[in-house]
Amino acid sequence: MRDAIETRIQEFLTDNDPRFDWVRPAVRKHGFLPLYLGWVAALGLRPNGSFVRWDHEDDREVVKPLSDPYWERMALCQGAKKYPELGSLIPQRPLQARDCESCRGTGQIEGALQIICACGGLGWMLPGEQRGPAPG
Ligand SMILES: [Zn+2]
Repeated sequence: MRDAIETRIQEFLTDNDPRFDWVRPAVRKHGFLPLYLGWVAALGLRPNGSFVRWDHEDDREVVKPLSDPYWERMALCQGAKKYPELGSLIPQRPLQARDCESCRGTGQIEGALQIICACGGLGWMLPGEQRGPAPG
């Protein structure tokens, strides 16, 4: 997976899409693949498989390690839409998981596809899992 992530980072850096011009300097500096870009923070994956959070609104110069299974799953689920090979990193649905009530297990909110569901797009949630406000 390391090679795949590095390849995707290179693609991201050489892509000319002007919508991501503001992201590329941080990707180049910190070496992560952006999986989720929010209003105040981005979540990314490094080639070694670790996750990072980039608070581009408050603290553009650094990335922080992300170690929150909920946000990691959400980032992977969103990232896999763009980079299908990352789908293999999404954890299997555990036995104790429940269908997400917001999307009825589909992973998408009907009529609002641009909104990320509370389940992160997986269609399931873990009972009692702590969730903070979305990073962005
Ligand atoms: Zn959901």
